[in-house]
Amino acid sequence: MTLTSKAAVITGSTSGIGLAIARALAKEGANIVLNGLGDEAEIEKTRAGIESEFGVKAVYSPANMLKADEIEEMVRLGERTFGSVDILVNNAGIQFVSPVEDFPVEKWDQIIAINLTSAFHAIRAAVPGMKARGWGRIINTASAHSLVASPFKSAYVAAKHGIAGLTKTVALEVATHGITVNCISPGYVWTPLVERQIPDTMKARGLTKEQVINDVLLEAQPTKQFVTVDQVAGLAVFLCSDAASQMSGANLSMDGGWTAK
Ligand code: NAD
Repeated sequence: MTLTSKAAVITGSTSGIGLAIARALAKEGANIVLNGLGDEAEIEKTRAGIESEFGVKAVYSPANMLKADEIEEMVRLGERTFGSVDILVNNAGIQFVSPVEDFPVEKWDQIIAINLTSAFHAIRAAVPGMKARGWGRIINTASAHSLVASPFKSAYVAAKHGIAGLTKTVALEVATHGITVNCISPGYVWTPLVERQIPDTMKARGLTKEQVINDVLLEAQPTKQFVTVDQVAGLAVFLCSDAASQMSGANLSMDGGWTAK
């Protein structure tokens, strides 16, 4: 247990990577502010499950990452409940795929707001408290798309390149305050969301499950294996440890070799 007495806010932690990070930080003793969309009863089950499984406190913030005032209130909820927000994980994100000339303007605005601007709002709310205590860890979930592009993902790639730039800038600003700022850039991560796409793609393209996984989904990933949410969470826990205290401003790839190409 390395994070006892710390409190962590994880945006978009009702599913996928964010939930795995929340559980991994709780396992290390951190109190948790969960956030994200979803069914109220399911979220309550998740929250209560974290408390009983790991013996920490967990609260839920319904903050919508499209709303600056709600994002600030999410950080304040953590500070009011636990006395501090020591770890901030900006993870909430959405995707939309379309040729740029047809890209719906409201989808562009949403992706930039949720995948990039929400991190700015959470960071600006959390940094004063971290500075006052002389310790903080900010981790942004970026993507292989913070380093390379794919066609038809203009908003997502722009937002993810943006979060890599935000990471570096804030890292420089807070470097002498005991606060590190890094981003994790996963390739294809095995989430229920990805898993659910497989049967449809098999049908649409007349392919076997193995063909969909290797030739469609993992085409970009040299290892031909998915990253797991627990692997991403393991890196997040490491970034919160003393061993990582001199790592800041880094963009850490976990992409099966994708961006080495
Ligand atoms: P997911 O859909 O399982 O989780 C996304 C989370 O964000 C959910 O909790 C959802 O409720 C929340 N969210 C979405 N819109 C929100 C809003 N307006 N306000 C508050 N919360 C909101 O997806 P995931 O795969 O776990 O993705 C998490 C992060 O990882 C994203 O930033 C994504 O871009 C990034 N990522 C995912 C992959 C992958 O292959 N799955 C790869 C690289 C990066």
